[in-house]
Amino acid sequence: TLSDRLTATFKNLRGKGRLSEADIDATAREIRVALLEADVALPVVKDFIAAVKERARGAEVSEALNPAQQVIKIVNDELVQILGGETRRLRFAKQPPTVIMLAGLQGAGKTTLAGKLALWLKDQGKQPLLVASDLQRPNAVTQLQVVGERAGVPVWAPEPGNGVGDPVGVARSGVEQAKKQLHDVVIVDTAGRLGVDEEMMRQAADIRDAVSPDETLFVVDAMIGQDAVSTANAFVEGVGFDGVVLTKLDGDARGGAALSVASVTGRPVMFASAGEKLSDFDVFHPERMASRILDLGDMLTLIEQAEKAFDASQAEEMARKLQGKGGKDFTFDDFLQQMQAVKKMGSLKSLLGMLPGAGQMREALDSFDERELDRVQAIIHSMTPAERENPKIINGSRRARIAKGSGTQVSDINQLVERFFMARDMMSQAAKGGGMPGMPGGGG
Ligand code: GDP
Ligand code: MG
Repeated sequence: TLSDRLTATFKNLRGKGRLSEADIDATAREIRVALLEADVALPVVKDFIAAVKERARGAEVSEALNPAQQVIKIVNDELVQILGGETRRLRFAKQPPTVIMLAGLQGAGKTTLAGKLALWLKDQGKQPLLVASDLQRPNAVTQLQVVGERAGVPVWAPEPGNGVGDPVGVARSGVEQAKKQLHDVVIVDTAGRLGVDEEMMRQAADIRDAVSPDETLFVVDAMIGQDAVSTANAFVEGVGFDGVVLTKLDGDARGGAALSVASVTGRPVMFASAGEKLSDFDVFHPERMASRILDLGDMLTLIEQAEKAFDASQAEEMARKLQGKGGKDFTFDDFLQQMQAVKKMGSLKSLLGMLPGAGQMREALDSFDERELDRVQAIIHSMTPAERENPKIINGSRRARIAKGSGTQVSDINQLVERFFMARDMMSQAAKGGGMPGMPGGGG
């Protein structure tokens, strides 16, 4: 697997924690091969490699991970980000019905998906209506009716009066019908051709103009491989779409098409279809797809564990220093490390925002100014090792020197030194008592 190969590439580097240009190049070669094996389109591979190289060069050296693990983490993060980061949810219209239009080549899985999506929405308490706007193939309407019956969802089909032979008319009357019967979601199935052709695109665009979809989903077969890019581009130009649905993931395709389409169009993959049964359907999980494409799963688990273990041992060490000798072993270097740990939490901000009752914690993080950390860091770096170890010796002339070295004022140094002693006292009290002073239930 790629994990094994990357680990082999970095065999001689273990523990050194820094990436040379040659290491980065060797890594890039391995990733390139792995992506091509997963059927990612060549231009996408090139862009991806460039992005990973850039990030590897600028990466902060992590003490918790060896170089191979660091690169794997970078590669994985980049993959997940391109695939859409967090799963993008369906946007429902403020004024129902929400209109969802499906577009894609013939055989991509649109009609099957229409049923899956309808069932999925119905299970969430929605009342969808399926609309049969594929009049191209003789049995297309019947196929949707069968699917609708299985999902237990009504189907709006062309009949005399609502546009026989006119897919646009059927779509328009279907949305009208949904309004009358209080359906809150309308799913419009459309025709596809085996290859991209202008007439099909025009018809899809006409349907789009007639019903103004809230979401247009591009349905694409995961097995399509290298053709994914040109097909996706044609649909971006011809119809435009908001999100991608990947089908036939139950096959043995490695999922390169997902990366190709997401990367080239900048649209998120939203749903995944993996089988012919209506229940073979789920929202798309970027992390799972990332490990399917590059087979990094086990390595990522190891990396997570390494990082956790590192954090834990660091915290233990800190506690040990604070408990003994009234906290005198706690140095300015430790202080800086703690501040950096808080900074790392900054990336949790968005996550915290989603939890109920996280408001207070969020406020604390918001008030933590990154420039403040930079200044503190500059000041501490201008101290000698002896001063960092034993801040008591930082007298007036040393303060003047540190201020000059860090481009700050003596008053900044005074403030920081004062803060350091206060923080150390407080934390040392807390460490002895087993909790933060003044916190209920802290035991201190
Ligand atoms: P459409 O032409 O885009 O409407 O595609 P269909 O929904 O008619 O699907 C074409 C074929 O692919 C049918 O035989 C489906 O049963 C099959 N199919 C659709 N989605 C999946 C899937 O996720 N996995 C598998 N194995 N087959 C699928
Ligand atoms: Mg169809």
